[in-house]
Amino acid sequence: MATRKSNTLKLKFDTSWSYAPAPESKSAATINKQYDLFINGAWQKPSSKKYFDTINPANEEKLSEVAEANEADVNKAVVAARNAYEKVWRKMSAKERAKYIFRIARMVQEKARELAIIESLDGGKPIRESRDFDVPTAANHFFYYAGWADKLEYAFPNRNPQSLGVAGQIIPWNFPLLMAAWKIAPALATGNTVVLKPAETTPLSALKLAEIIQESDLPPGVVNIITGAGATGAAIVKHPDINKIAFTGSTEVGKIIQKAIAGTHKKATLELGGKAANIIFEDAPLDQAVEGVINGIFFNQGHVCCAGSRLYVQESVAKQVIKKLKDRLESLIVGDPLDKNTDIGAINSKQQLETIHKYLKIGKQEGAEMYETSCALPRKGFWCRPTLFTNVAQSNRIAQEEIFGPVLAVLTFRTEDEVIEKANNTPYGLSAGVWTDKGSKIFNMTRRMRAGVVWANTFNKFDPTSPFGGYKESGFGREGGLHGLLPYLNLAN
Ligand code: NAP
Ligand code: MG
Repeated sequence: MATRKSNTLKLKFDTSWSYAPAPESKSAATINKQYDLFINGAWQKPSSKKYFDTINPANEEKLSEVAEANEADVNKAVVAARNAYEKVWRKMSAKERAKYIFRIARMVQEKARELAIIESLDGGKPIRESRDFDVPTAANHFFYYAGWADKLEYAFPNRNPQSLGVAGQIIPWNFPLLMAAWKIAPALATGNTVVLKPAETTPLSALKLAEIIQESDLPPGVVNIITGAGATGAAIVKHPDINKIAFTGSTEVGKIIQKAIAGTHKKATLELGGKAANIIFEDAPLDQAVEGVINGIFFNQGHVCCAGSRLYVQESVAKQVIKKLKDRLESLIVGDPLDKNTDIGAINSKQQLETIHKYLKIGKQEGAEMYETSCALPRKGFWCRPTLFTNVAQSNRIAQEEIFGPVLAVLTFRTEDEVIEKANNTPYGLSAGVWTDKGSKIFNMTRRMRAGVVWANTFNKFDPTSPFGGYKESGFGREGGLHGLLPYLNLAN
C-alpha cells in the first residue's frame, strides 16, 4: 500500500517518516459469498437466476456476488410492499411504528464497527470516515425520524398528514448506508413502505441493513431491498403501483426519471449533482479555510455531491492560499481504506477513475495548470492523487462540470458581486461555502447564493435535523429535518 509520510515535516526538517500501518480487522465483518433479494422479510432467489460480483476497489478482489433483480423481481417486491402497507403498516399506530425505527437505529449502532468495515471494503472510503461519519449519521437519521413518527400532526398542524403508499428508492455509491438511512427512515416514519435499490458497486451495506431489518422483526414487506444495475432502477421507476420515487444520483439519470414519470400520479424527489463553490475572502482565517477546503473536496475522494470542487480565492491572498493548499495536499495520506491513518481511499470504480482521468486531460487541454501530489499509489485497485488546477477560467469545463473525484479547480476574484456572479454561474445549486471574518458578509452571501446549503467558516457538515437539497439541476425536494417528512406525505385540510 501507499507510503505514509508526512511531507510537511519533510519540508521542515528534511527528514521523512512513516506511520506504522493501523488497519481495521476485516475479520470483524461477516460477508456472505452470495446474497439473494430481500423481499417480504425473506431472502429470495432472483427470477433472473443471475448474480453479479461486487469488488473491493482498493485491490480489485471479489467480495461477494449479489442477485440481479429483473422486472418480475421488482414486481414481487412492490407487491410485498403494497400488501404490507395496506394490511399492516398503515394500520399500525404511529407509536408502534416508531418503536421499530428506534430498534433499527439501535441495531445500526450495535453493528457500527461491522457496517463501517463493510462500507470501506465495498466502496473504497477511508475507515475513519465510514466509522466516524457514515455509520453514526445513518443511525442518527433513524433515531431522528423515529421521534417524528407519532408527532406528524405537530409537524404539520391542522393539515391531516396522510402517507402515500409504496416508495421506490434508488441510491448512489458514494454514501451507500447513509443514503439508505436518509431514504428509509422518513418513509417509515410517515407510514409508507419501501422498495430500495442500492448502487451496483456498493450493495453490501444495504444488504447488511436488510439483515438488521430482518432481525428487528419489522413486519415482512415493509422494507424490501433489491440489488441490480440501472435497469432494475428503471423497472422500479416505471412500476405502476409505486406512489413515490426518491432518487439520489446523477443529473443525467435524474432527467431520465423525470421524463419516465411525467404524466403519472407519482411524486418524486430528486437529489442530483453539484459543483459547489468554496469562497475564501481575504479577511478569513486562512489556515482554517485551507483545512476546510481540503475537507470539502478531498473528503471521500471527492465522491460527494456537495463537494467544494470550485475554490474562489480573493486575489490579494490567492498566492498565499495556493501555497498552503499545496503544502497541505502533500501531507495527505492516500492508501488502504481500512487503515485508520488514511485520508484518501480508493476511487469507487474503474469507470469513475476513467471519468476523473478524462477531466484531468480536459483541464490540461484547456490551459489550466495541474498540480498533483507526489505520493506513491498502490499498484492494484483504483487510485487518484489529490489534484488541484490553477489558472482556471470560469468557462472551463473543469470549473463547470461535476468531476466527482479528488480534483479542485482554483479561481480568483476581486469583489463580492463578482464572486457571487461566478459562484452562481453553473447549472447546479446544491451547496456552497463562505470563509470570512465578517458576519454581515456571511449573511449577504448566503442570501444571494443559489445553493441549497451554504456553510459559513466550515464545510460538509450534516445533521439529521437539517434539510438538504438543491436548486436548478441539482434537483428538487428536501431530505433531512422536518422538510424531509413532507415528500412522503399528502397534506389534506
Ligand atoms: P447514477 O449513475 O445516477 O446512479 C444512481 C442510482 O441510479 C444507482 O443505483 C444506479 O444504478 C441507478 N440508475 C442508473 N440508471 C438508472 C435508470 N435509468 N433509472 C433508474 N435508476 C438508474 O449516479 P452515481 O454515479 O451512482 O452517483 C453519483 C451521482 O450522485 C453524482 O452526480 C452525485 O452528485 C449524485 N449525488 C447526489 C446527492 C444529493 O444529495 N444531491 C447525494 C449523493 C450523490 P447503478 O449503480 O447500477 O448504475
Ligand atoms: Mg464494490
